[in-house]
Amino acid sequence: MRKNKSANKKSNIFIVLVVILAILLVSSRTCRLTRRNLNPGKSEITSESFHQQNPDSSTIKKEEPMPEVSQPDKNILLGKITGSQRDSMLSPVERRYANRDGMFMHRDAYHAFLKMHEAAKADGVELIIVSAFRDFNHQARIWNNKWNGRQVLSGNIYATDIASPVERAREILRFSAMPGTSRHHWGTDIDLNSLNNRYFESGRGKREYEWLRENASKFGFCQPYTPKGSRRESGYEEEKWHWSYIPVSAPWLNFYRQQISYDDIKGFDGWETARLLNVVERYVLSVNEECMNP
Ligand SMILES: [Zn+2]
Repeated sequence: MRKNKSANKKSNIFIVLVVILAILLVSSRTCRLTRRNLNPGKSEITSESFHQQNPDSSTIKKEEPMPEVSQPDKNILLGKITGSQRDSMLSPVERRYANRDGMFMHRDAYHAFLKMHEAAKADGVELIIVSAFRDFNHQARIWNNKWNGRQVLSGNIYATDIASPVERAREILRFSAMPGTSRHHWGTDIDLNSLNNRYFESGRGKREYEWLRENASKFGFCQPYTPKGSRRESGYEEEKWHWSYIPVSAPWLNFYRQQISYDDIKGFDGWETARLLNVVERYVLSVNEECMNP
């Protein structure tokens, strides 16, 4: 009996030890997993180190989680925004950051701009917004004024001197988007300091442009309309003043590609030319590659 009792005691102690060991093992593993979940970038091989070892692994890059950007209403992409959508999506731009009152930007883009503005200022560069959010009607006024010769085009040309509607639209499209196709509809894109490329080629303008080229990406901004050439074959001419907030505008460009058809692009003078000129493929989607990857 005594012998049995002590054997039982021993086996009980053994079971207790095994259970404690199991609990310790499970809890240390859970701890490790939790830590990894909290710091997804701290896994054994970070995507960064992978890219350093494999600079051409662009396909892998797509597996990195996309930032959470919800799909906007189709009308928002077209600049046809309601009052309540305006209130929830846009922030008023403070007068001291702009050359006039009454401008608005997408909230996220505005917050990023404020940080960029501060950094630029510390380097002696003043960034002033000269155009930000524009809705469909605003863009239609710009477009129709050019279409009807009320406003002269670059190169001192009047669109009304061009008889062919397609050629007339093509000339306006060198620097102006058709209503419904402008990135300014999204509030993510801004024009800075001057609407003239030459301004950015010397003196203060040159310093401002060089600062933006060097630093804008740190704040999420890119220049969508770089010089046309092998990397950007069609679309608008170069615009050194136009900058876009990539974390929102890149996914929105994708949504635009998926959701908008030529039946959606109408309601302004010469709208029929949009399809004939493949405006979505040749203009909207023809942007600097940097602006396509959030
Ligand atoms: Zn612009």
